[in-house]
Amino acid sequence: MSINLDNYHKIKSIADRYQASLIAVSKTKPLSDILELHHEGQLLFGENYVQELTDKFKEAPATIDWHFIGHLQTNKVKFIQPITKLIHGVDSEKLLMEINKQATKNNSISNILLQIYIAQEESKFGLDENELTGILEKYSNGNYSNVRIKGLMGMASFTEDQSQIKKEFTQLKQIFDRHKSNDDFDTLSMGMSSDYQIALDCGSTMIRIGSAFFGARNYANTNG
Ligand SMILES: *Cc1c(COP(=O)(O)O)cnc(C)c1O
Repeated sequence: MSINLDNYHKIKSIADRYQASLIAVSKTKPLSDILELHHEGQLLFGENYVQELTDKFKEAPATIDWHFIGHLQTNKVKFIQPITKLIHGVDSEKLLMEINKQATKNNSISNILLQIYIAQEESKFGLDENELTGILEKYSNGNYSNVRIKGLMGMASFTEDQSQIKKEFTQLKQIFDRHKSNDDFDTLSMGMSSDYQIALDCGSTMIRIGSAFFGARNYANTNG
């Protein structure tokens, strides 16, 4: 197991050039990999599985900011709400309500991104624009007062077709621009190892990079 530091420094400098944040996605990877990248100066790490995140959180230095980027089940919000800087994949109102409830209970504010469905695949999660409009309307009327909606997140189709990916990211950027109504709403999380350059060119402000840094994942290491 070792980190691809060349890729890390290359992608970090590209992200910097676009003034985009870089999330290192460490799901299924050992703490030693995280520490190695943290040592290079990386502060933001993303995880997909609740148990894995809570385990790593306990072991890792407090200087790391943790983002939850996976599909989150309502009954598990309580475990990650207190330890995450940003929850990316908020894909239902029910989930948003639960995050608000836990944040209220903990006397805190949770930063979240609403996940928008842009891919052509049934297996991906996300809201459509009507659902987004409904949620943002309630939010601007004072609902979810312990949640701060920071922007949107999306995943493009798993395809080699660059023009299809570009079309989907462009669509997400347009939705983002249409719904930006306050200064908090400043984050557009899109782009992964295979498509971050397209995402940045389409207006991404936050890319989520896993395999380009840590190598291919072995899912036998997880229970998620
Ligand atoms: C795993 C994952 C990533 C990182 O994917 P790579 O292709 O390994 O860069 C980014 N975003 C989400 C939501 C993920 O689940």
